[in-house]
Amino acid sequence: MNTNKYKGGEEPGATRVRFAPSPTGHLHVGGARTALYGWLFARSRKGSFILRIEDTDRHRSTEESVEQIISSLQWLGLDWDEGPGVGGDRGPYRQMERMEIYKEAAAALLESGKAYRCYCSPEELDAARANAKAAGKPFVYNGRCANLTAVDEEKLKAGGRGSVVRLRLPDTGVTIVRDIIKGDVEFDNSILGDFILLRSSGIPTYNFAVSVDDAHMGVTHVIRGDDHLPNTPRQILLLEAMGEKLPAYAHLPLILGPDKTPFSKRHGASSVEEFRSQGYVREALCNYLALLGWSLDGETTLFSVEELIEKFSLERVGSTASVFDNEKLSWMNGHYIRSMDSEELASRIEQFIENTVLAGLPGTDDKPSVTDLVPLVQEKMKTLADFVDLTEFFFHPATFEEKALSRLVKDANAPAVLANAAEVLSSLDVFSVEAIESTLRQSADDLELKLGKFLQPIRISVSGKTITPGMFETLEMLGREESVSRLLAAIDLLKNSG
Ligand code: GLU
Repeated sequence: MNTNKYKGGEEPGATRVRFAPSPTGHLHVGGARTALYGWLFARSRKGSFILRIEDTDRHRSTEESVEQIISSLQWLGLDWDEGPGVGGDRGPYRQMERMEIYKEAAAALLESGKAYRCYCSPEELDAARANAKAAGKPFVYNGRCANLTAVDEEKLKAGGRGSVVRLRLPDTGVTIVRDIIKGDVEFDNSILGDFILLRSSGIPTYNFAVSVDDAHMGVTHVIRGDDHLPNTPRQILLLEAMGEKLPAYAHLPLILGPDKTPFSKRHGASSVEEFRSQGYVREALCNYLALLGWSLDGETTLFSVEELIEKFSLERVGSTASVFDNEKLSWMNGHYIRSMDSEELASRIEQFIENTVLAGLPGTDDKPSVTDLVPLVQEKMKTLADFVDLTEFFFHPATFEEKALSRLVKDANAPAVLANAAEVLSSLDVFSVEAIESTLRQSADDLELKLGKFLQPIRISVSGKTITPGMFETLEMLGREESVSRLLAAIDLLKNSG
């Protein structure tokens, strides 16, 4: 094959990669992985990363989705050098604002005879499609308008027929997609048909808009999901018809759910926004998505973004589908939370809790602040949402979880433990972690109970839960008065329930 027709071998710095989402919903993790791989590749080569919004589907595109996608990309830290909000000299970067460019490209193809106007009516085409279906064959346009004379065209126009623009294609031979991940994939030209470039409304088809834009924006590498592979021969033929060199292609395999069907809403959270609102941190999601299809050595699992930029390569992207593993992601999230600087974690938590029951509470009146609480919970958190579960009781009187309450009621030692704890904690000189710990250890010994067993009713009484941050730290943070009053309330509760 003639490699001169590819742009790929240019200086790394000249690398131009685009991410081209259709704004028809939230950014799915599949889209986020595509964006991440493109971004890592562009950054690793000190090239440019371009964001292009493909909004020509007027029924499904929404402004809200554009904003969502942009906000998810920003949150992930995937910044773009050209695109919405940033500008660039190959813009505009939203397809609906590029209509003139498509019109001119179509006019040039018509002029050179590489494209032609087709006047077949939707009814005629529907009938042809139905015939093909009945015969069990794929529909291929029969080229009826491929050789109309100017006179024919005038007549059709005069008869009120609208027209579309179609690309004139060879109906023999093959088109080979050279793909970095899949290798060479061959497509028979005869099944492609003279496809439509511009609809009668003047709006370009997906394949036309993408090809014009990739050429016009100087894209050197097209990295996208392999659901687009069947479109690629059409885009190659179009680029060739326009006299353009080809970008290099890398089609990423699908992401599957545990049941091996395409990963989607049915499997739970599937968009970046959902993972974000469940308390995942960007470092974990980027690291996890990087490994969902790529590996350095089949072993290393933890990579900072800087390491990913340094190590990422398209050659090491696998060609088979990957299965999304929530447990691994959640393990990774816990890892990043535990290893985060506590100030940074506090600031992430502060942003996160704005939309939760804790909004506005930490640090008001005599309540602990997020910064006070981080050392108590950092080791136990797997998501930012865990902060809410683990600390909510500091801000409200304990509301008992069913399981916790039934344990407390069934614990024969509880009345004695609680009475003892209320008494010794009331009479401590200094209400510090050390003093609380030493007096409660002593009490456990006095009552001949193991420490864990002794602390359990205290834990449930002050928090309503069976799992809390460290007990001595928790009591100190609650303060003497609040701790003792909760213990006394629990003693009453037990009396009344007995
Ligand atoms: N707009 C297309 C999509 O969201 C991607 C097109 C491309 O990358 O070529 O699926």
